[in-house]
Amino acid sequence: ERLVGSSADGEDQAVEAALRPKSLGEFVGQERVREQLDLVLKAALARGATADHVLLSGAPGLGKTTLSMIIAAEMNAPIRITSGPAIQHAGDLAAILSSLQEGEVLFLDEIHRMSRPAEEMLYMAMEDFRVDVIVGKGPGATAIPLELPPFTLVGATTRAGLLPPPLRDRFGFTGHMEFYESAELERVIHRSAHLLDLEIDTEGAAEIAGRSRGTPRIANRLLRRVRDYAQVKADGVINREVAAVALGVYEVDARGLDRLDRAVLKALLKLFGGGPVGLSTLAVAVGEERETVEEVAEPFLVREGLLARTPRGRVATPAAWAHLGLVPPQQAPG
Ligand code: ATP
Repeated sequence: ERLVGSSADGEDQAVEAALRPKSLGEFVGQERVREQLDLVLKAALARGATADHVLLSGAPGLGKTTLSMIIAAEMNAPIRITSGPAIQHAGDLAAILSSLQEGEVLFLDEIHRMSRPAEEMLYMAMEDFRVDVIVGKGPGATAIPLELPPFTLVGATTRAGLLPPPLRDRFGFTGHMEFYESAELERVIHRSAHLLDLEIDTEGAAEIAGRSRGTPRIANRLLRRVRDYAQVKADGVINREVAAVALGVYEVDARGLDRLDRAVLKALLKLFGGGPVGLSTLAVAVGEERETVEEVAEPFLVREGLLARTPRGRVATPAAWAHLGLVPPQQAPG
């Protein structure tokens, strides 16, 4: 498992519950989504109605699950949490839908990974609060209509574009979650440190924030590793130096690149003069699978403006040379 991976590992799951903000006011950053959602929820409350269905799109670890729990809390409603991959048959979905209470929030993570028949059942449930349960098989099969109580579906997906348009169109509101600014992550870190009873100064939080790849989940995880180091080596107090040295031990550099990211960049610069070089060649050079380089290392390197994907292959940007402290060939003396 990567320390800078954005999906939740076992330890994350155990700690995250304790670190989750419980209200919109406590939720850091995402100003636009927060403001829009605040209006949607307040208006529904004022009408005494169930809130419109909400779609949240964004990378893992940006707070989609947290926000769905906040939606339920703000609406004083219970919440049911499930995910697309967990719903393989339409019957699975029918069972969940028919057991919802009035006003309940149904959080469907990775909604783009639901099976086709379940997806079609969901269209009708979202629009008419009704499902047709098919009983029997073949020519004798009959559809029994089942009324559902009004509920709020909160769907989460890494990209709204992955959803079929008929599903996307049935959401009353779509919130696009962005990567967090460093200053916002610092607030997340201070808040988590407070909840975990840790002593951290402004610069220590900034140091961790800068290495967190714009992602609160990663910020919280790095904070825990820095805490370990601080407890063992530095009287428990987290400042800039402690944070930097601790994350150096874990090979997470000042920009949040880890060993794999740097290996890819280093090969691109040192072996191929900055490219262009084909993905397969680059993968062989770092001794990794093609998919690992493409799906695990590259997205962040591209986002950081360190690597570009071009029709002729992978190319390093000037920032990549600077980040590794190397000089591009044409500028090298001689
Ligand atoms: P996934 O798609 O992998 O399920 P997610 O987008 O649902 O990820 P969450 O589980 O909601 O992410 O958040 C991950 C962690 O980051 C949680 O511990 C949560 O406390 C923290 N977090 C996320 N967003 C914020 C925020 N805006 N303010 C404070 N903490 C946050």
